[in-house]
Amino acid sequence: MAELERKHGGTPVPTEWTYAPAPESRDIVSIRDRYGLYVGGEWIEPRSGKTFATIDPSTEEPLAEIAQAGPEDVSLAVEAAREAFENGWSALAPSERAKYLFRIARILQERSREFAVLESLNGGKPIRESRDVDLPLSAAHFFYYAGWADKLEYAFPNRQPQPVGVAGQIIPWNFPLLMLAWKIAPALAAGNTVVLKPAETTPLTALLFCDVLRQAELPPGVVNIVTGDGSTGAEIVKHPGVDKVAFTGSTDVGKAIQRELAGTKKKLTLELGGKAANVVFDDAPLDQAIEGIVNGIYFNQGHVCCAGSRLLVQESIYEQLIAKLKRRLGTLRVGAPLDKNTDVGAINSRQQLDKIEELVQTGRDEGAEIYQPPCRLPERGYWFVPTVFTNVAQSYRIAQEEIFGPVLSVLTFRTPDEAVEKANNTPYGLSAGVWTEKGSRILAMAQRLRAGVVWANTYNRFDPASPFGGYKESGFGREGGLHGLEPYLRF
Ligand code: NDP
Repeated sequence: MAELERKHGGTPVPTEWTYAPAPESRDIVSIRDRYGLYVGGEWIEPRSGKTFATIDPSTEEPLAEIAQAGPEDVSLAVEAAREAFENGWSALAPSERAKYLFRIARILQERSREFAVLESLNGGKPIRESRDVDLPLSAAHFFYYAGWADKLEYAFPNRQPQPVGVAGQIIPWNFPLLMLAWKIAPALAAGNTVVLKPAETTPLTALLFCDVLRQAELPPGVVNIVTGDGSTGAEIVKHPGVDKVAFTGSTDVGKAIQRELAGTKKKLTLELGGKAANVVFDDAPLDQAIEGIVNGIYFNQGHVCCAGSRLLVQESIYEQLIAKLKRRLGTLRVGAPLDKNTDVGAINSRQQLDKIEELVQTGRDEGAEIYQPPCRLPERGYWFVPTVFTNVAQSYRIAQEEIFGPVLSVLTFRTPDEAVEKANNTPYGLSAGVWTEKGSRILAMAQRLRAGVVWANTYNRFDPASPFGGYKESGFGREGGLHGLEPYLRF
């Protein structure tokens, strides 16, 4: 409620603006009490006999009981995928494969509100983001790869592209449906079949997606969804019937997968962590840069592998920029993910919140200065106030490690050389941002930054036609674009 107190030229003006709640209804979603595994086009009970609960991280309310797939379940899924690959899917006319992908894309569009609500309920991200980013991009990925399905000969001329076989795909919890789309769309377009494992904390949109597959009448076994924890992922990776592994997640698990697959014939792509530098020069349009910084680190609670988590500011504009940034932080609304006014939703899990809190404490202990705007957090659920650290040295853990939360570390530089050196001083190399009005400087920086994606005067922009992926400990292989098809093909 706005208080009408202050008089301005005789007219009462509010001293404090707040928004009325604008909750999106969750009635559009019906969640079952319990889900099995989606194998060979059917729901099956897990042979493991085990289940676990999935919750709403903003309230800690249980949403459904989820099957925990064990080794036998993974084998069933891989066999179903193999059978579908050999008995029809790989030999299907590419233009027919394309039709299924187009159908899936259209159904996702038609049911986008339902998916967006479920994504926010299960993952904690603001409905505004799941509605305006995750869902449109997921559908766009299927549309994009549908277009390539019957043009592979033209995409890779004189190379006779063939599908690889069964793809084992393991995805994280930060963009559950979007990561599913990034994985499944190119795999199917190239003629492969799939066994996919969603993250333990966010299985619900992948399970709803099974309904889309049925609606699209995709042949049984072409896509199989097995839920479970890291052990289920490990079973997929080592299963001898899997020809290609695609993983998005932490660098540690990525390294373990690479060790497991060393010496085998399996193809592998890894999309791992990041610690991106967002570099602001003194000639940058400041207000626009502030929006880019905020979007870079507070979008999706900072649970973004390419988040602009290290801000590098040219020294001459440091004071001005930090003052503006702090002011802007005070306007961010933290709260219920289903409220359309919410900018920053819930942290995805207790475990992730613990990790953020631990790293933030190291920032304090090592001597950085913390700023958090006044903010009242809900009593239940997992929450973290948008945070800025200044006085950060390059050696601090908050400048080196992926926090994967709404926490920004600010460093300064004087010259472009120093900016490049600091930006590249990380084991990662996934993304970077550059803010300057000079086109030549953008191009020069983009050449020198060791990052798979460099955004100029914007941040966190995605398009299915544009490849995405990293250098160094951020992994290898590209997703999106023509490049994203290659890992799913043999030549
Ligand atoms: P993980 O890398 O553990 O999870 C990613 C996926 O891999 C999940 O589906 C996970 O299952 C599965 N998995 C876990 N262990 C194995 C294994 N040994 N073999 C095969 N698959 C496995 O990330 P976390 O969820 O544990 O997050 C930890 C940290 O990783 C975060 O704090 C963040 O820093 C980083 N991260 C980075 C992401 C990125 O996109 N770069 C995405 C997610 C996390 P389950 O869900 O059951 O654990």
